[in-house]
Amino acid sequence: MPDKPLIKVDKLEKKFGDNEVLKEIDGTVMAGQVICVIGPSGSGKSTFLRCLNLLEHPTGGKVYFEGKDTETFTESELTTLRERMGMVFQSFNLFPNLTVLENLKLAPMRVKKMSDQEAADKAMSLLKRVGLEEKADVYPASLSGGQQQRVAIARALAMDPEVLLFDEPTSALDPEMVGEVLAVMKGLAESGMTMVVVTHEMGFAREVADEVWFMADGYILEKNKPDDMFNHPQNERAKDFISKII
Ligand code: ADP
Ligand code: MG
Repeated sequence: MPDKPLIKVDKLEKKFGDNEVLKEIDGTVMAGQVICVIGPSGSGKSTFLRCLNLLEHPTGGKVYFEGKDTETFTESELTTLRERMGMVFQSFNLFPNLTVLENLKLAPMRVKKMSDQEAADKAMSLLKRVGLEEKADVYPASLSGGQQQRVAIARALAMDPEVLLFDEPTSALDPEMVGEVLAVMKGLAESGMTMVVVTHEMGFAREVADEVWFMADGYILEKNKPDDMFNHPQNERAKDFISKII
């Protein structure tokens, strides 16, 4: 069961020039929790994820990781922080000139100074976990979108992250490939991985999330248990959004 706050944001603000994209966002992600973030396009969901791992620097408020104020982190501590938060993008972002196995070995060898053999063993066990061990020696371009995204998830796991951030991981996939990626994510959730998932897959959110956060216009307008969010949303904007997508 979740017991300690892994990430906490307190009045988080992000402005790009005059554009106030995140406005006084509060939230806590407990270890082991799965948070699904939903909301219309342009509401600030990607920016929020990028502020959590400090790929974007907040222009106001605080981001705490394991109780520590990330504002006090040195550059090397920030690098470590980003390594501890895996990120999976809509567009997979695999290295096209490396095989699947090499994609998975790269960061553990470079960053964690793992031996080639150790990194290969780990990569193979992760490929097994996402059902792709037979694809170890092929290049990403020969894989389907769903397979590439499963490799991207395995690659994120290769760094033993504390938390995984997903930014619409299935939005670029053909419909028939969405299920295989969601199944891998569901398995991770069941294994206790802490996850923050921006998604339009309401079935996944309903089934897997501990909490669903609804964002619009840079605010989190509602946080709720999935059943309550989808059956009885309190916020009018959330009600409207959910009625249109379900
Ligand atoms: P969502 O993921 O919910 O679609 P985003 O976080 O991508 O929303 O974008 C929210 C707003 O922030 C948009 O108005 C977008 O133009 C703006 N924005 C995002 N990133 C940048 C950036 N690097 N520079 C300037 N504006 C940005
Ligand atoms: Mg986005």
